[in-house]
Amino acid sequence: MEKVVDANVFIHGKGSYPFTKALVIPEVLEEIQSQNARNLLINTDYQVKTPSEKNVDKVKEKASEINSPTSEADEKLLALALETDKNILTDDKALQNLALHLETGFEGFLDKATDQKFVWEKYCGNCGRKVSGSKCGSCGSTHLSKKQVRCSSE
Ligand SMILES: [Zn+2]
Repeated sequence: MEKVVDANVFIHGKGSYPFTKALVIPEVLEEIQSQNARNLLINTDYQVKTPSEKNVDKVKEKASEINSPTSEADEKLLALALETDKNILTDDKALQNLALHLETGFEGFLDKATDQKFVWEKYCGNCGRKVSGSKCGSCGSTHLSKKQVRCSSE
């Protein structure tokens, strides 16, 4: 089975994986710094791919809609899963959550995969009001904090 694989799987894996071929993005290779994890990757059948801009934009749009705390690399990896129609293998809960929102298949590696959908709401760190942009509409502060909120509609 081909799967899109997160860097953490190689970092925490011990050479035994639930896939026959790994699809990764260039950023995953950069994240894998330790010699041990690199050796594990090299012994795996893997292919490096870059997702199209269209799919990256689609993922980023959803990520910003829900204020997802996922990184740029996470979002690209998810875009590759979307593009290739393969499951993404990751234990990153925020990444799994974003996959849920995009209806992309995903699996946990060491932990059970999440089945709860969350969004994050932004609050002003100065006056405490809810914020929708990148700064507080009330006091202008850009010091924002995020609060995880469970989706009740699904
Ligand atoms: Zn404020």
